[in-house]
Amino acid sequence: MTPPIKLLDGCGRTVEYLRLSVTDRCDLRCTYCIPPGFKNFVTPSNWLTFDEIERVVGLLARAGLKKVRLTGGEPLTRPGLSDLARRLRLIPGLDDLSLSTNGTRLADLAGSLRQAGIARINVSLDTLDAGRFRQITGRDALANVLNGLDVASEAGFTLVKINMVVMGGINDDEIDAMVKYCAERGFILRLIETMPLGKAGSSVRHVNLQPVKQRLQQRYGLIDGAVPGGGPAKYLVSPDGRFNIGFITPLSQHFCASCNRIRLSADGKLYTCLDGQASLDVGALIRAGTAEADLMAALTGALQSKPVRHDFGGPRSGENRVMAAIGG
Ligand code: SAM
Repeated sequence: MTPPIKLLDGCGRTVEYLRLSVTDRCDLRCTYCIPPGFKNFVTPSNWLTFDEIERVVGLLARAGLKKVRLTGGEPLTRPGLSDLARRLRLIPGLDDLSLSTNGTRLADLAGSLRQAGIARINVSLDTLDAGRFRQITGRDALANVLNGLDVASEAGFTLVKINMVVMGGINDDEIDAMVKYCAERGFILRLIETMPLGKAGSSVRHVNLQPVKQRLQQRYGLIDGAVPGGGPAKYLVSPDGRFNIGFITPLSQHFCASCNRIRLSADGKLYTCLDGQASLDVGALIRAGTAEADLMAALTGALQSKPVRHDFGGPRSGENRVMAAIGG
């Protein structure tokens, strides 16, 4: 029997988590994510088909991939997403299928996504104020998102994480209101530091979350905790164990040494780092009819270029990279 291939990068880190972007398009225009007037989206005919996605994920799973998160752009704008989820769920070796969404279409789709086998959802929500929501996202859709969250809870999503990107002077005064909202509903709040990715990511004021963490720790008597998931968040939990807050701090305390993630863009480019250059055009290889063994060798070989750490704030920060295109 051939020994199992391991997804090891050039620094010896084991890769077991794929963030799979199913579209780079989004029905929101969050100021920190997509630059104003951005039009350079991938033509849908260049998106990987569900068959192609299944093939790549199947190969990676044979080599040790365990977790897949569907993301984008906004994944719920890709038609047939539940069908894709159902297909991925059947791939041997994958033990975790999750979804990141902005929640605008969750009310319509939560039931079918749950039935398709998606276990966990993360919903982006930066504010509970309708005017601010419009200012941040460019759309009047807060009520849709809040309704979507209620419907998702009713549909059986018991582990819901709320991702709040904290922006200086925009929503950093709303953290306590968000703690209250999440605690009342049993959602897990995750506070995220802005990443200066491209023009959009650099356009908002970064907030160092370390002092915020200390303040919340003291105010609510929080202690170190842990929550299921494959990501980089560090959690604090209330003494009764009923409320968790996660902190994702790529700048004030980066977590690259334990990074277990790779990303596949909608058009099939493999990224080994969120801030990095695409390291392999998987879509082109598939469409050129590359044989299974060669594709596997290309995938595992591409991991060698995974950088030691991100370069946010470094010389490439000004380049026009777009989070929605890479699959945040
Ligand atoms: N549309 C989905 C959503 O809203 O969750 C998935 C894609 S979105 C790009 C994934 C996550 O990236 C969201 O939580 C979003 O807030 C975050 N994000 C986008 N740009 C960011 C930036 N510059 N800094 C920090 N987080 C960012």
